[in-house]
Amino acid sequence: MAAAAECPGTDAAFPETRGSSATAGGSGVPGAAAGDKPVCLIVLGMAGSGKTTFVQRLTAHLHSLKAPPYVINLDPAVHEVPFPANIDIRDTVNYKEVMKQYGLGPNGGIVTSLNLFATRFDQVMQFIEKKRQNHRYVLIDTPGQIEVFTWSASGTIITEALASSFPCVVIYVMDTSRSVNPVTFMSNMLYACSILYKTKLPFIVVMNKTDIIDHSFAVEWMQDFEAFQDALNQETSYVSNLTRSMSLVLDEFYTNLRVVGVSAVTGSGLDELFVQVEDAAKEYERDYRPEYERLRKQLTDAQSKKQQEQLERLRKDLGAVDMRNTPSTDEANIAGPSDLIMTRGNPDEEDEEAVDSDTDDIDHTVTEESKETEAFGNFLKERMEVVQVRNRKCMIPEDP
Ligand code: GDP
Ligand code: MG
Repeated sequence: MAAAAECPGTDAAFPETRGSSATAGGSGVPGAAAGDKPVCLIVLGMAGSGKTTFVQRLTAHLHSLKAPPYVINLDPAVHEVPFPANIDIRDTVNYKEVMKQYGLGPNGGIVTSLNLFATRFDQVMQFIEKKRQNHRYVLIDTPGQIEVFTWSASGTIITEALASSFPCVVIYVMDTSRSVNPVTFMSNMLYACSILYKTKLPFIVVMNKTDIIDHSFAVEWMQDFEAFQDALNQETSYVSNLTRSMSLVLDEFYTNLRVVGVSAVTGSGLDELFVQVEDAAKEYERDYRPEYERLRKQLTDAQSKKQQEQLERLRKDLGAVDMRNTPSTDEANIAGPSDLIMTRGNPDEEDEEAVDSDTDDIDHTVTEESKETEAFGNFLKERMEVVQVRNRKCMIPEDP
């Protein structure tokens, strides 16, 4: 089996789409982390809630404050990224090619692309680590379909890698204009609640699109149980009964929840948002960092070595797959359509240096994720076989 390092298209350093020249100059930059670690904002939310527009707006806002963020796009299927991304998953994984080579549909393609990317996330961590002096914030945009990130092994690997090294805050973006129905509102809140418990990180609900409708109705529903019940009384369906019961459960969740009304289009609400973000970052330092450090200590060296080996094996499997499908060495540096893992982008010299490998970045992956990594390797191999059999069948001429 070929090692990833021998494989065209996978041996180059991880492409950082843009360097951080805008912030070169280090700790003197306004808004830079100045010795602190940058705060990672992981932006989650249902498809169409406005995550990408929100990240775009935040990026512009921080640039105007002369504190440019470090921005990462994790959506492999987005047509255009409307903000200057320092790291773009599309420079590393060719989503369309993943679909083709593994015979997958759009959703399978997105999940698989994110899994492929997760196997290299240690390199992203090294980039962030290097630029930590220059940026106060790292913004992370995630795939349109929320479950791709929140309920996948790769989402967990990425979140835990970030959270074990940097203060992290989850920003849950919701479409306020689509939450005016109390049942829909409740569903959205239940989802937010499940993510809060899944990610175990400080959490902010961003009620987006306040240019369409003010979010005060939602805040009232959260603060005043009677007001929500009144709204529900307009509904007579079975689901409203269920919602009534669930709202009692959610009362506890609402108690300490940070909620900010924002318009990603007009930029209103951002000052309040940053007040909440700073508060959430303090909460991370106070309540979450000790927990992550405890977890890290719990993992023995043997465990982290085993996880490293599993990740390495998966990378090798990917390398072998890639070799069979990439063009000859001469073309290896050209990102052709058959490159599964691509090398386009503009890696700057400094970032190509090898950095001491530090297992701390990955040793938080719990055994379950390691098993999933192995299972994913098998899945890829099986899919390749399916596609190969299918291709062979297509080539055999039918009997006359
Ligand atoms: P994503 O799938 O969560 O990344 O959502 P997008 O950022 O792609 O936005 C989905 C749609 O909502 C687009 O048509 C945006 O223009 C629109 N949108 C996003 N934020 C706002 C907002 O604050 N106000 C209004 N009116 N539209 C918005
Ligand atoms: Mg998006």
